[in-house]
Amino acid sequence: MFNTDRRYWGWGVNGNAFPEPMLQLARAFLTAKFGTAPAAQRPVPSLDALRMNAPTLAVPAALAAFVTDARYDRAVHTYGKAFRDVVRALDGDFTPAPDLVAYPRDEQDIVALLDWAARAGAVVIPFGGGSTVVGGIEPPREAGARRAGVITLDLCRLDQVLDIDRVSRCARVQGGVYGPALEAQLKPHGYTLRHFPQSFEFSTVGGWIATRAGGHYATLYTHIDDFVESLRLVTPAGVLQTRRLPGNGAGPQEERLLLGSEGVLGVITEAWLRLQDIPRHRAGCTVKFADFMAGAAACRELAQGGLFPANARLIEREEAMFMGAGDGQNHMLVLGFESARYSQIDRLQAALAVCAAYGGVAGKSNVRDDSDAASADASAEQWKQSFLRAPYLRDELARMDMVSETFETCTTWENFPVLDAAVRAAAHAAMQRECGAGLITCRFTHLYPDGQAPYYTVIAPGTAGRQLAQWDAIKAAVSGALVAHNATITHHHAVGRDHRPYYLQQNAPLSLAMLRAAKAAVDPQGIMNPGVLLPPDQD
Ligand SMILES: Cc1cc2nc3c(=O)[nH]c(=O)nc-3n(C[C@H](O)[C@H](O)[C@H](O)COP(=O)(O)OP(=O)(O)OC[C@H]3O[C@@H](n4cnc5c(N)ncnc54)[C@H](O)[C@@H]3O)c2cc1C
Repeated sequence: MFNTDRRYWGWGVNGNAFPEPMLQLARAFLTAKFGTAPAAQRPVPSLDALRMNAPTLAVPAALAAFVTDARYDRAVHTYGKAFRDVVRALDGDFTPAPDLVAYPRDEQDIVALLDWAARAGAVVIPFGGGSTVVGGIEPPREAGARRAGVITLDLCRLDQVLDIDRVSRCARVQGGVYGPALEAQLKPHGYTLRHFPQSFEFSTVGGWIATRAGGHYATLYTHIDDFVESLRLVTPAGVLQTRRLPGNGAGPQEERLLLGSEGVLGVITEAWLRLQDIPRHRAGCTVKFADFMAGAAACRELAQGGLFPANARLIEREEAMFMGAGDGQNHMLVLGFESARYSQIDRLQAALAVCAAYGGVAGKSNVRDDSDAASADASAEQWKQSFLRAPYLRDELARMDMVSETFETCTTWENFPVLDAAVRAAAHAAMQRECGAGLITCRFTHLYPDGQAPYYTVIAPGTAGRQLAQWDAIKAAVSGALVAHNATITHHHAVGRDHRPYYLQQNAPLSLAMLRAAKAAVDPQGIMNPGVLLPPDQD
């Protein structure tokens, strides 16, 4: 029932590998950087070779039309898409696989499944695109936490835009629709959601809402939160439908309780989403900075000055070069403005003046105003391709025994320099200890008037058989620095199982008690995604 081209071991689909010439460039860069060439790519284990336990649940006769225990379906729903997932998959370790996978056709199927799971004492894991990088859809390993068994509920058949309100410019959308299918259904109407996380191709509306995803745009509408007008959630205790309101001052906002609930409260089956007109006017430019902190100061002024660039990605020089952009000498600010209605050249020029005041040197020929839709689409497509290819490279690096992963956070402008120094010191010490060397680079993904979201990339020469332990040690070190300096454990990657200890540490005990109380109200038997957000024994 699932697209059998989807990889069970890594990102994306079979046959869509990272291009070999670009892989050779990456190899050359890493060889020069670390003094030794990365290992040859190790083979991917076949489906038959995966280590997987026999299912502890039989497919219930009443649900047989949409539930399976097939090996491929169980494998492809075992892990998310983090580096640690890829490494375990390459090792053939699929022991946490769900016992059953359900592909409900409609909301009635979901209600029937939750009823059956509650009676059977089974655990239910909502699954969108499975692009989580924090263990959000990974079944528990411990027998106690698995209870009678684990059933993963994949929403891929709930993939429709059901209704469009042109007057209010909103759409009613099913939770299982993937990014490209959503945009394809909106485009004929002249609309876009304009929410483009890097994982756009293989993630869903329900997943974005459940994780409070951050899109590609740097300012203003960045989180999916901004686009959610109302929600529909199927819980073990019944269906919760919030009302369509552009604003609502009556008590705590219901949608806010559900956004970021990561499958522990119920299944998001539908949402009314706020749309935008398709942008036609664009103006963009890259700006070089010799000093990263000068670039950061320019970003702060841009964020506080009310220009609201759609794109303002400050990328450290080595990262830009590794991704095939930049000159390796300068840090790079990728700056872009867009609008459906108005030319953006004036805004771009105002932003370039801000950058110049901090020593930023604008690339000459990149200033443009794509008021004709054809060329705007072509350039958007070019950007999209290089952006979407990056995850395939990460998986190839894992196959070469490298340690290669990202982590992200958010902090105030005032706190950034101290935090950044602490994160780099922790990363370097851990990489040196674990791998003998390593590279950490930073880029800003989102800007706010009071702070920014730094996104770090780590690459280190790993050791076959030790990659997981090496990354876990580096991650623990950098997470410790984030916590010590009061930066969030995640700006948009969510909590899942992996960030749970830090989330519990960072949030007030009373907030967590409120979350537990909310869960007890809608999921009294604690069957929904135990171990995510809260520890299993408190679910
Ligand atoms: C290469 C790569 C790039 C990424 N880039 C970004 C990025 O730019 N911005 C960003 O925010 N994140 C990013 N992520 C992380 C991930 O894509 C997001 O967390 C995304 O929102 C998950 O959506 P999904 O549909 O894949 O959800 P899944 O991975 O399937 O699930 C994630 C969590 O949501 C729950 N869930 C999923 N669907 C539902 C539903 N319908 N109802 C209730 N609960 C549900 C699951 O139980 C799980 O806890 C990236 C990940 C990768 C691998």
